[in-house]
Amino acid sequence: GDEVITTPVTFIATTEAITRVGATPVFVDIDPDDYCMDVNQVEARITERTKAILPVHLFGHPADMDGLRALCNKHSLLMVEDCAQAIGATWKGEPAGSLSEAGTFSFFPSKNLGGYGDGGMVVTSDEDLADHLRFLRVHGSPDKTRYTMEGQNSRLDELQAAMLRVKLAHLETWNALRREHALYYCRGFAYLAREGRIELPTEKPGAKSVYHLFIVRVDDRDGLHAHLNARGISSAVYYRIPMHLQPVYETLGFPAGSFPQAERVCSRFLALPLYPELTTEQLDRVLGAVSEFLSA
Ligand SMILES: *Cc1c(COP(=O)(O)O)cnc(C)c1O
Repeated sequence: GDEVITTPVTFIATTEAITRVGATPVFVDIDPDDYCMDVNQVEARITERTKAILPVHLFGHPADMDGLRALCNKHSLLMVEDCAQAIGATWKGEPAGSLSEAGTFSFFPSKNLGGYGDGGMVVTSDEDLADHLRFLRVHGSPDKTRYTMEGQNSRLDELQAAMLRVKLAHLETWNALRREHALYYCRGFAYLAREGRIELPTEKPGAKSVYHLFIVRVDDRDGLHAHLNARGISSAVYYRIPMHLQPVYETLGFPAGSFPQAERVCSRFLALPLYPELTTEQLDRVLGAVSEFLSA
């Protein structure tokens, strides 16, 4: 019966974490400017069953942590941050994952800090919670003989850890390059944005994104996707169907129309190439191809 408030624009791992402990996801609409949960809509969804808020720092953009913290304090709720796409992102200088009870990270190969297989991490400043998580990770045993609870096999594979340690030293540089490239795109697309042909990501005051993806919103998303494909430029559609409209969550009772912003952006999202090694020449080629399509 417990409820956890989260966003419908995310990867299913977010909601799986809620249902796996027997709780029910309760969605709120998003702020289209940074794609994160709209803090102004959260309070109306809080009931006596609400136990936690689970913001997702989507595409590398930190959610409005001041607003969420205030709500958690006012209503005695826990908060867990889904930082899978936001390693290194900051809110008023504080790293994503450090502004709640716990932050969760993914080392899936495509993430900003990606391994060569699966892996992940939980961070917390709460010693008791840290101990609890250490037990859960290895089947609930503090010493391999006594089992004080049931856990699971959630070790970080040592080969993955070895490779991630090497890559970790480069993360800050890579994230800075991602930001540079994203801002280059934003400058290049500024005139199209002024004409209303493209919508660009924006950062809330205090938010510093690590641009896990560079997402634009356009009317003819599938047309632009095909146009770029034909020119040998890869782009990708993420979250074509928001979580509340997924068949698996039909029973939660959020029919089409429940979250207009989420539904609108999911029909308009396109991810353009963004990775640290991109050259100015490549960025210009993407800018040119997108402009060609949108100016036609
Ligand atoms: C990648 C990702 C996860 C975690 O996925 P895993 O497969 O468990 O590594 C969780 N939430 C979001 C938003 C993600 O993008």
